[in-house]
This record gives sequence, structure tokens and C-alpha cells, in this order.
Amino acid sequence: MPQPTAPTPTPTSEQLFDRANQVIPGGVNSPVRAFGSVGGTPVFMESAQGPYLTDADGNEYVDLICSWGPMILGHRHPAVVDAVQRALAKGTSFGTATEGEIALAEEITGRIGPVEKVRLVTSGTEATMSAIRLARGFTGRTKIVKFAGCYHGHVDALLVAAGSGLATFGLPDTPGVTGAQAGDTLVLPYNDLAAVERVFAERGSEIACVITEAAPGNMGAVPPLPGFNAGLKELAHRHGALYISDEVMTGFRASRTGWVGVDGVAPDLLTFGKVMGGGFPAAAFGGRADVMALLAPAGPVYQAGTLAGNPLATAAGLATLRECTDAVYDRLNDVADTIGTGVSKALSDAGVVHQLQYSGTMFSVFFADAPVTDYDAVKATEAFRYRAFFHSMLSQGVYLPPSPFEAWFVSASHDDRAVDRVLAALPAAARAAASATP
Ligand SMILES: *Cc1c(COP(=O)(O)O)cnc(C)c1O
Repeated sequence: MPQPTAPTPTPTSEQLFDRANQVIPGGVNSPVRAFGSVGGTPVFMESAQGPYLTDADGNEYVDLICSWGPMILGHRHPAVVDAVQRALAKGTSFGTATEGEIALAEEITGRIGPVEKVRLVTSGTEATMSAIRLARGFTGRTKIVKFAGCYHGHVDALLVAAGSGLATFGLPDTPGVTGAQAGDTLVLPYNDLAAVERVFAERGSEIACVITEAAPGNMGAVPPLPGFNAGLKELAHRHGALYISDEVMTGFRASRTGWVGVDGVAPDLLTFGKVMGGGFPAAAFGGRADVMALLAPAGPVYQAGTLAGNPLATAAGLATLRECTDAVYDRLNDVADTIGTGVSKALSDAGVVHQLQYSGTMFSVFFADAPVTDYDAVKATEAFRYRAFFHSMLSQGVYLPPSPFEAWFVSASHDDRAVDRVLAALPAAARAAASATP
């Protein structure tokens, strides 16, 4: 039997978690942080630098979530810190128009051809919610098509992933979402164009839009099969619906131009978040000028935000995007490739059957014997092995996503020292995964 790895001492995190639970439901402000699917006490972080996180007890970890994407340059990148400090000195929020908003919008439209006009918001959730409202306003239709396993934020109508088979009307995943809100959502299996074709044949005239993660990372990395996104767009357009690509995760991460730059399929509307906020709450939706023209105050579809285009957030986002050069993407690809190859080798050496999958520079490992292409297959994987793998890595100073169904994120600051620390931790974690039991 492999030796269990000694847990990293985190007494301060334990105290903080007790204290948090007194005043915050579940002790966290976003559920995955609570370690629910891997067990144990969540680690409270105190500071970060480059590719490293330091917890409240002073333990250092190589960060492989990068704030779920935004820290593409690493923590406290000097150009971003400097831009924020300069913005801070001028004031934190005006509730008026500012030049920084134009500069960020220009950077986005300049990079991504299909984004002719863009509106800044404060979270990815708001971006997808607004894009769907706009699609409904533009088409005058009510139904939306989404895919099981794709996450688009906690928008009521999109918190529907259950249901398999053809055109199952969505049942809400959570109390608080009404049948009416979920009932306009048609949930289909991911990567199944035939199912999309059938639903359009049956209800095409009622469907406002198809929304999909450009390359999913929220059920783990489950990339679109060749032709899937192109097929979605073609079917949507044949039936007068819009094709919305949710690039909140992939935008400015999969490539300089996000997933559009990888698959070349121009969406009608796109949503962004994470990287474009540089660690601040900034997100956006944009696309075809004729569709965006319907947004208030230019048009009748209402959408607004007190802190939208916040000067600190736009400064951080702009500085981040400007630093995202080709060299940054080359490094992301190298690091993702090196770590992924290392994970796969360690697991193979330990005799663990697995699939290593990439959605651009995001990746994840599934304990399965065949490629995982949809949410049913994700749910059938041996997720229990991940718990053991995760805790072994954590105790060796590597912070992985605390869930088997989330992607791993790297940054351009992951230098050889950080990567080597990850590689060195893998064999023990692989052995822990091998000996894990359900
Ligand atoms: C994170 C995410 C969202 C939600 O963004 P928030 O800023 O958390 O509201 C939406 N869509 C995708 C694909 C995401 O990864």
C-alpha cells in the first residue's frame, strides 16, 4: 500500500472556516470553494505572487486554478498592479462614462472580429443573462437551447442541466428557479448535433438562440467535436435563431482571440469574463452590430449596471489584455502540455486508466477508459479517485481545482521551478488515485 501523504497543517484555515460558517452560508461565497466534492477543510489563502498562493498558515502552493482563469499572467503582475494603482489614485467609481471603458472595448473589438460592439458588465452571469435577453428581444422568440454540463453562470433559466434524450424540457436544478423559468430552456446532450437538428425541426420557430460554452471547461475539459460549433451555427441560422458562444472561460485564454481564433466559427453574440477583468469584476457581451443596436439606450432591450465599466476593473482588464502577447500563449500551451503529459505519465505508471483532455489551454483528467464527450460520460467517470489525487497534491503544495469536474488553469508566470514542483508531486498523487476506493 502506498503511504498516505501527511496532511499540510492548516489550523488557521480550520479556525477561519469555523468562523466563516457562523456568518456565511457554508462558509464560502461560491460553492466550489467549500471542498464539498473532495472533502476536508477549504484552505484560506492570504496572498499570492506569480504562480504561487500562500495560505493563512504560511504554506505555499503552486496555483493551478489561477482564480478560475483571470490570473493568466500570474498573481500581482507588475503591469497590472501599476495600472490599478494609477487608476486608484484617480478615484474608484464615478457612475459616469469614462475613457477606460472605451479603451477596453476597443481592445476587445480589435482582437475579436465578430465582436463589432460590446457592452461591459460586472460578471459572467450578467453577460450570459443579458445576451439571452437580447437574443429574445431580437428574435421575438422565447425558447433557448443549452447543453447538459455547460455552465453559464447562475442565471435562472440556465441553471438547468438535467434531462437527457431529445428536447427534454428543463427541470430546474435548484429550488428557487420556477418551472416557468426553466421551461423555456431546452437541454440537449453536448456534442450531439443530431439532437440539435431534431429540436430545431420540431420547435425551430420558437427558438431564440443556442448558447454553448465555446469549449467547455465547467464539466471538466470536454472540447467540441470537430464541426460541432459550426453545425450549431448553421442549424441556428437555418431556423432564424442566434448562435451565442460563451467565452467567459476560453476568451483571451484559448488563444489571443479566444476560441473563435481556434475554430474560426463567428458567433452572433459572445460573452466574456474572467481574463478580461484581470482579477477584478469585469465581464462583457458583444457581437453583431445589428443585434447589439437593440440594447438600451440605443434600442429597447434594457440592460444596465451601477459598477459596469468600473475604472479599476477596466484598468486591470486592459493592462492584462495588453500583456497577453503571443509569447504568453506559447508559454500557456507549453506549461499545459508539460503538466498534462506529466499527469498522464504518472497515472499510467501507477496503472490508473484515465483520459487527459484539453479545451484549449485548460485541461483536466477523467478517470475513464474512453474519451469523455458529454455530461453523461462525465458523470460515469471514477470521480472518487480525484479526491485522493487532489489531497495528495494539496499536501505536496499544489492547489488543484477542488472538484473533479473543473478544469485546471495555468499562467504565463508558471516557470520551470513551479512546473517541476507539480511534476515532482505527481507520482505519489497517482499512487493515491490508484489505491482510492469509492
Ligand atoms: C465562470 C463562467 C460564467 C459565470 O461567470 P461569473 O463571473 O462567475 O458570473 C459563465 N460562463 C462560463 C463559461 C464560465 O466559465
